[in-house]
Amino acid sequence: MSEDGQGARVRIRRVDAIPVALPLKKAVVMAGERIECSRNLLVRIEADDGRVGWGEASVAPQMTGDLLPGMVCAVREWLAPLLVGQPISARGALARRVERALVGNTGAKCAVDMALADLHGQVLGVPLCDLLGGALRDDLLPMYLLGNPRIEDDIAEAQRELAAGWRFFKLKIGIKDPREEAEAAIEVRRCLGPDVALCADANTGMTFADARLFAQRAEPAGLMFIEQPLPGDDFDGMAALAKVCPVPLNGDESIGSIADLVMLHRMGAIQGANVKTIKLGGVGPAARAMTTCESLGLSINLACKVAESSIAAAAVAHLGSVAPNLDWGLNVTQHYLAEDVCDTPVPIVRGNLRRPDGAGLGVTVSEARVERFRVRD
Ligand SMILES: [Mg+2]
Repeated sequence: MSEDGQGARVRIRRVDAIPVALPLKKAVVMAGERIECSRNLLVRIEADDGRVGWGEASVAPQMTGDLLPGMVCAVREWLAPLLVGQPISARGALARRVERALVGNTGAKCAVDMALADLHGQVLGVPLCDLLGGALRDDLLPMYLLGNPRIEDDIAEAQRELAAGWRFFKLKIGIKDPREEAEAAIEVRRCLGPDVALCADANTGMTFADARLFAQRAEPAGLMFIEQPLPGDDFDGMAALAKVCPVPLNGDESIGSIADLVMLHRMGAIQGANVKTIKLGGVGPAARAMTTCESLGLSINLACKVAESSIAAAAVAHLGSVAPNLDWGLNVTQHYLAEDVCDTPVPIVRGNLRRPDGAGLGVTVSEARVERFRVRD
């Protein structure tokens, strides 16, 4: 019997929501948040033929508002009952049901949608990028995040990672005085040379005046974009800033849905969008958001949240491979973790992210490690 023939009969046996705390190699500091240990939800979907699909979503108190207990509850009490006993061949309809079951809760929906996609790909014997229409590119150049409290440490780290092959860097701003941050950006640019992509992310931490001052002073740094200088709900402020800012603006915390993307574009508030599975509710919605970006002429920056493991990194690698454009790069975060939950972490070789080539996400999760990092609830 063919894989397809078998797949038609495979049903979902159980759905587990597993809260984990994954230690980072070192703390990442950004406006409004300091992360030493990443609290993530893993979703494990087991089929009646023994195959297991995995999905992941990080908590994001400052972005989606999702916290572990709420994510766990959303999966156990609302989403899992929609799936148990259903055939995985109905994934499209199941994903739609998950999307509409609850308002918000995009983190929980994301982990479920990702696990469904992983399992479906495994049952059909095809990689996720093929389920999403087929890869357009194999070369994926991730950004390296510089988030040290001291500029000297950012410079030293940038030099080290440049030598290791990284070609995209992102600075965390919105923490100190904007003049100081602009000078730091110029110094980092000097260290990187003119051919390496550099951008800055304020994580909503700036006022209008500070953002304008930073953008003007940092002009010699040749930033590709400034991400989310103003609060997520300040669409008017972003639109006004875009008119006077010499650097293109990227929306991140402002974008929780495709409707947000369309509205921000209509207002002239962004020139590109940070697309995250946790904000949009999974790989399917993220793929639709990227298609919307292409239609609107927006640049795309595809990203994991600090710090998701190789489960989410694999999803982003597959999404990045099918993105209509990826001109503002991608961020993965598995390399910030002291230990991954996957047997073979998604590798970054000479600054190039390798897409796993197995079926589904293409990663093998160590259940023993998941148990070790499990947060007892
Ligand atoms: Mg951001």
